[in-house]
Amino acid sequence: MGQVKEACGVFGVYARDVDVPHLVFDGLFALQHRGQESAGMAVSDGDTVTVVKDMGLVTSVFDQRTLSSLQGHVALGHVRYSTTGPSTWQNSQPVYRSVGNAGFALGHNGNLTNVEELAEAAGMLPGIVASDSELVGELLARAYPAVDRVGGEADTDLEQALLEVLPRLEGAFAFGLLDATHLVGVRDPNGFRPLCLGRIDPTPGAPEGGWVVASETPALDIVGAELVREIEPGEMVVIDSDGPRSYRPFAPERIDPRLCVFEFVYFARPDSRLLGREVHAARHRMGERLALESPADADLVIGVPDSGVPAAEGFAARSGLPFGQGLVKNRYIGRTFIAPTHEARVDGVRRKLNPLRESVSGRRLVVVDDSIVRGTTTRQIVRMLRDAGAREVHLRISSPPFRWPCYYGIATPDRSELVAAGMPVDEIAGHLGADSVGYLSLDGLVGSVGAGDAGFCTACLTGRYPTRVPSAREPVASAHR
Ligand code: SF4
Repeated sequence: MGQVKEACGVFGVYARDVDVPHLVFDGLFALQHRGQESAGMAVSDGDTVTVVKDMGLVTSVFDQRTLSSLQGHVALGHVRYSTTGPSTWQNSQPVYRSVGNAGFALGHNGNLTNVEELAEAAGMLPGIVASDSELVGELLARAYPAVDRVGGEADTDLEQALLEVLPRLEGAFAFGLLDATHLVGVRDPNGFRPLCLGRIDPTPGAPEGGWVVASETPALDIVGAELVREIEPGEMVVIDSDGPRSYRPFAPERIDPRLCVFEFVYFARPDSRLLGREVHAARHRMGERLALESPADADLVIGVPDSGVPAAEGFAARSGLPFGQGLVKNRYIGRTFIAPTHEARVDGVRRKLNPLRESVSGRRLVVVDDSIVRGTTTRQIVRMLRDAGAREVHLRISSPPFRWPCYYGIATPDRSELVAAGMPVDEIAGHLGADSVGYLSLDGLVGSVGAGDAGFCTACLTGRYPTRVPSAREPVASAHR
């Protein structure tokens, strides 16, 4: 799924007597796969909020000197992808706003679907707000209690502003926020994007321990935090010196858990735990189920690195066919080489993947990948394998056909560019140059996750959007991430 940019990553820490900026650095590093265009961090020492952000990977934005210069016990970090909007410093996060003598920072994972309505209701001219995250920052700043603009008790301002603004927002938003003395984690009523709460146990040197909010659980692991629980869809958790407390800012009828099913298919790290399930194991089960639903007569099963590999292993295990490595990925290219033009995308595939000739030559291959979006990458992979001597190429995809755009924080191409939107499945193999193509069914996908009756968003597969979406069929132009 290298043609689709994934969601952003959010990581926040509240802890005393701990080197909080370094923890945020480690947490963001663990979430680097969720966004590789910019990284940022806001840190508060209880009085002043300082923000450092820039374009680039976490390791290029923060060095030892920068981290050492940041002091505080509350911090929020963010890694970002931009899409239709420009990838600029101005759009990097956290977004910071000062309001009177107070200030807050916001990191957003998701995509609001009522940006234009919100902007209009707030009297803003169309296009004047750079991103939906900037818009939320503006709405929160306007909602800060007026008393604090001339000084006063600031501790509860951010909570009050959030309780006023959140119910007006629609779409996908997992927010991390901080002000001088609070760390906040919020999930939208559908919980499209993951967000979890972790606990850093007390130590003799840091007797209060600490609290963490993170997009994915591996970011907890890396800082030695235990998963307490996932923040629930429609929940706001506020953390301060009294520990966490929970709010439900949304009308009960809006609560409808719909975690993005592609978190399990592709976006999340394999060592993430979502809905109590390990992502790698779920991907393995998808491959097993795929082997049952769409078997192939072949000599070898290979996976498209990296996210196709667990499903390939599952396919091999269930089918009894040998599993092997047939494609080598350049580890230094980043997870997704995003290029603006068709020609550049083709080059990107060649830069990223290369076949193992001795493994594939003369073989009938089952090639397992997590999804096909435009088909450009897949067609290139098939050609590469044939050029390397593969006798047959049978594509097996561990998700159903991707037919609809995502409005919830994943940058997808226009529907006209989605290969499965424009042609029946039985024509796709020929279009991609493969001998056959088989997709996992929707029931097979959801069943493989193994999360009981948990609700999922499957809109890009089914066209059934859990919320109102913009009427235009193009993805929202304001600010995907
Ligand atoms: S439309 Fe697809 S990619 Fe977007 S949130 Fe729903 S399942 Fe995930």
